[in-house]
Amino acid sequence: MRSIAIDGPSGAGKSTIARIAAKRLGFIYVDTGAIYRAVGLFAKMNNAGSKDSEAVGALLQKIKIDIKYDEAGVQHMILNGEDVSESIRTPEVSIYASDVSAMPAVRAFLLGMQRDLAERYDVIMDGRDIGTVVLPNASVKIFLTASPEARARRRFLELLEKGAACSYEEVLSDMQYRDKNDSSREIAPLKPAPDSVFLDTTEKTLEESIEEVLRIITERLGL
Ligand code: C5P
Repeated sequence: MRSIAIDGPSGAGKSTIARIAAKRLGFIYVDTGAIYRAVGLFAKMNNAGSKDSEAVGALLQKIKIDIKYDEAGVQHMILNGEDVSESIRTPEVSIYASDVSAMPAVRAFLLGMQRDLAERYDVIMDGRDIGTVVLPNASVKIFLTASPEARARRRFLELLEKGAACSYEEVLSDMQYRDKNDSSREIAPLKPAPDSVFLDTTEKTLEESIEEVLRIITERLGL
């Protein structure tokens, strides 16, 4: 099986780009952030503090996470039998996801699931540690980033479109909180794999970024 790892901070455009690239290549797109979000949502629903690793760790044995793909190839997160794909997208769950993802027990719990998908399918997997930890032997690794302001602006516009009531400043400060959390944690911090291709999309449109990513992938895979 072939696997493509796309890592980078939140709002860099990973999921949009990876989803479109996967469709063009006929690969499965795996959004690993959504899996951490499902754990974060479960912790929040059970009133565990987002930084309470004991409480969150104890909850792990009660979590069953399934990933399903609908006819359009869109990933759905099923948490204990319920489709939570929408409810994992709130800013509160973003913070929960970032906090619980720093816990070694949570990362160990989700590692097998991610590797298993890559063993069964050709995948484009996006996240923070795919090229460094989850799939160190991925055929192609891309580290996608953009300035914090550009990332916050894109995320803000996305949320506005969905009708969410939040300000640009809130989105930027959420993003800065998560950037710091994700990059400074001891286990599987956000950092480019040494053999990854670095791509800064600050000055690029979405279309240009997709073309660039596809060019890198097809070149590396010899397609
Ligand atoms: O990608 P997304 O923003 O949905 O991810 C939510 C959170 O999950 C991130 O802020 C990060 O802390 C965590 N995450 C992670 N490792 C991954 C994917 C996401 O730690 N591979």
